[in-house]
Amino acid sequence: MAEKVVIIGSGPAGWTAAIYAARANLEPLCIEGSATWEPNRVNGTTPLGQLNLTTEVENFPTWPFMDSSVLAQIAKSALPEERYDGLSHLYEGKKAHQGKRAAFGPELMELMRQQSVNFGTRIITDDVVKVELMRRPFLLHTRDNGTIEAQSVIIATGARANYLGLPSEDMYKNNGVSACAVCDGALPRFRNKPLVVVGGGDSAVEEATYLTKFASVVYLVHRRNELRASKIMAERALSNPKIKMMWNRGLHEVLGTDELGVTGAKLASTVNTDVEEVTAGGVFLAIGHTPNTDFLEGQLDLDEKKYLKLTKPQRMWTSIEGVFAAGDVADSYYRQAITAAGSGCMAALDAERWLGDQGQH
Ligand code: NAP
Repeated sequence: MAEKVVIIGSGPAGWTAAIYAARANLEPLCIEGSATWEPNRVNGTTPLGQLNLTTEVENFPTWPFMDSSVLAQIAKSALPEERYDGLSHLYEGKKAHQGKRAAFGPELMELMRQQSVNFGTRIITDDVVKVELMRRPFLLHTRDNGTIEAQSVIIATGARANYLGLPSEDMYKNNGVSACAVCDGALPRFRNKPLVVVGGGDSAVEEATYLTKFASVVYLVHRRNELRASKIMAERALSNPKIKMMWNRGLHEVLGTDELGVTGAKLASTVNTDVEEVTAGGVFLAIGHTPNTDFLEGQLDLDEKKYLKLTKPQRMWTSIEGVFAAGDVADSYYRQAITAAGSGCMAALDAERWLGDQGQH
């Protein structure tokens, strides 16, 4: 029996689509991504999406600052023990946040996931590696769980962090080069050392600010002399005494040894021929994102940056009827948790109505 709707992806778009589809009795199956496939860890494409790799989310409505202990209670009361255990490091131990704060990304994602489960969403922790969308029902090939037939599909696989493509950057990935401060920043190798963050957007500022907890100093390397980041975030970085702005510079080479990993970086001026070296225990890239659409190539229309193309105004329809998109995988412009969640709702309503029109629901 083909599934009525399969949701691929497990960020805010995927779980919101699942909540709406489950409440519409579509009995959705969500393929949330593999937690153990090593390239997913390296690329930051593990389950629960990019929000699971972030700290405080101050702009997701209904999560004002509240006591950390209250957030712990909410998580404990809402989640099964094994899922709560995965979050317990946020609440317990010396490093746990004390006092008031907004929800952390992983808390939000676990609660969204649970909300979808409460209404009957089934979940497979695996990757879809190939799709056949030119046939009905659609066929989805997973890495470890065989093939799944689906009458409709919602693609919500999000986007992943970019790298510059320098050979030295590649050489030291997992050995001092990272694109996720929140995943890797607390590692002993980065403690009490100068660290480099490359980029000038909100992600770069967020990563640099986060890393000041561990680093002796953070060099924020930006190719222009003005940050792209939102005003409030930019001001936080510019007023942080542990962040040193390195304006008009780019990462030229990552320096290091096999044994020690990253030991420094060569920075090249973007306005003259100067190249300088800084000592650093780590280099963090925060230079934008690439949509996770590799597994769709040749099946659905993508734009020049490989984002999924939407084909109807105000709808989440893709180039194939019955296949819908939600979240960052089809959005290079807004890219917010709340817009992703909203588009997940839209995609589920579109799928429900389309299935109804086909006489399949
Ligand atoms: P972004 O806004 O696209 O910024 C990318 C930054 O990387 C830009 O400063 C860009 O420089 C630089 N860059 C791009 N390619 C580069 C290259 N090849 N070499 C050197 N520098 C390069 O991406 P983002 O910071 O990941 O943010 C994405 C979206 O998520 C935004 O809408 C942002 O507001 C949102 N976000 C929000 C939060 C939050 O509110 N807490 C946190 C993170 C992200 P130029 O400026 O010169 O183009």
